[in-house]
Amino acid sequence: MTTATVVGSGPNGLAAALTLAEAGVQVHVVEAADTLGGGVRSAELTLPGLVHDECSGFHPLAVGTAFARAFDLAGAGLTWRWAPVEFSHPLDGGTGAALRRSVEVTAAGLGTDGTSWQRMFGPLTDRFDTVVEEFVQPMLHVPRHPFHLARFGAYAALPARTLARRWEHPEARALFAGAAAHAFRPLGTPFSSAVGVALATSAHAYGWPVAEGGSAAIARAVVALARQRGVTFETGRRVDHLADLDTDLVLLDTAPRAAADIIGDRLPAGVARAYRRYRHGPGAFKVDYAVEGGVPWAHGESRQAGTVHVGGSFEEVAAAERQVTRGRMPERPFVLVGQQGVADPGRTRDGVHPVYTYAHVPAGFTGDATTAITAQLERFAPGFRERVLATHVRSTARIAADNANFVGGDILTGANDPLQVVFRPRLAADPYATGVPGVFLCSAATPPGAGAHGMCGWNAARAALAHLTR
Ligand SMILES: Cc1cc2nc3c(=O)[nH]c(=O)nc-3n(C[C@H](O)[C@H](O)[C@H](O)COP(=O)(O)OP(=O)(O)OC[C@H]3O[C@@H](n4cnc5c(N)ncnc54)[C@H](O)[C@@H]3O)c2cc1C
Repeated sequence: MTTATVVGSGPNGLAAALTLAEAGVQVHVVEAADTLGGGVRSAELTLPGLVHDECSGFHPLAVGTAFARAFDLAGAGLTWRWAPVEFSHPLDGGTGAALRRSVEVTAAGLGTDGTSWQRMFGPLTDRFDTVVEEFVQPMLHVPRHPFHLARFGAYAALPARTLARRWEHPEARALFAGAAAHAFRPLGTPFSSAVGVALATSAHAYGWPVAEGGSAAIARAVVALARQRGVTFETGRRVDHLADLDTDLVLLDTAPRAAADIIGDRLPAGVARAYRRYRHGPGAFKVDYAVEGGVPWAHGESRQAGTVHVGGSFEEVAAAERQVTRGRMPERPFVLVGQQGVADPGRTRDGVHPVYTYAHVPAGFTGDATTAITAQLERFAPGFRERVLATHVRSTARIAADNANFVGGDILTGANDPLQVVFRPRLAADPYATGVPGVFLCSAATPPGAGAHGMCGWNAARAALAHLTR
């Protein structure tokens, strides 16, 4: 029987383990932390009974993918929950914009910019399944739907600033800025639209759901299915050397530099160079709040949103993102707010909501962004401060220390610069192959990149299975 070790139990490591086990491979998963799940963990961080997501909170690309369709995650206990508004973007003065599942309803809320929103996102949403099939796999492949991919690519290749010119009013421009800012990139650079176009289209197609009861439910479901197929798990053990693993296949759910360290001299020189030059992006600084009655947004629709993008106008968001990539902490950072209790009311306790926030900060940020984050929320939700019953802070350094893949607090495991957003971790026909027979990389440093969707692990496992038949 073929044997495999998966190093790391993030969503990609778990997806790889399950995919290999389904194909009849005997799989063992080794995890450095004391619990399984990597970037999909939840815990009572502020008050007893109030469950917060420690990393991923919303899951734009987790529904409808090949991995999600291949396994009965619902049967294993995973239930997705959606908020009435997928994401919103408050502006000063109580105004703002909201993205709802329906393109038409969203467009209707954007005044005279609605037509242009619909003209762009309508066709992209209708073809989302075929487009997503193309971009969740390595870019060097013969596309099955070249015209759909070309349409997506024409938007994705543009700087977000250029694409946003199609909208006249601050609301639509800001709505797109919030989605684009997930790339942690300056919004004036080529391909800085790619992540925003993909995420906004996925919000229309499948929504940005939360896992009922907390994101840890995602890991629990995959682990349960994997155990049923004989996968074994070991926690609290960090793998440092490939020589310590004695299996036919090894899949590394690690950052590329860590993979180079683990593989050592066996790694071909060209691959080692590429892995060591792999670039990481800015960091995140996370604050979780226990909030009496939820956040009192002045912009009404933001009270119904699962995710709220806080940072003001397109220009303000662009300026903040430019600063963090240059290593400077903005006075008013871009802040991502998760209102899991809106999507999953079972997450609230006696009217107290778990509110999840993180700010984009420079790589390796050593300061404290708590005051800046609270001030940004207070700016768009006057009275917020008085409702806060408890907070939990996870600094950039802590995020990096808790998970070796988040180098310098880079929660995307790799900068989304123009080259790496398309070809990661290096330009290669098989980006999962390390050049060492049987050893593969399966983390978010491989296509399709960051997010708790498991598609990197699914693709890497299939690359490993193909290797067995060669
Ligand atoms: C604050 C924050 C907010 C986020 N928000 C979202 C969101 O809302 N939606 C979303 O989709 N994504 C979000 N993400 C990103 C998402 O969590 C990651 O993209 C995803 O978890 C990547 O999965 P992975 O399997 O590649 O790696 P990870 O989840 O990073 O897991 C890697 C695992 O490998 C282990 N490991 C590493 N090296 C070794 C070793 N040498 N030996 C043994 N074990 C090792 C680590 O301990 C870790 O458990 C967020 C992340 C953070 C931190």
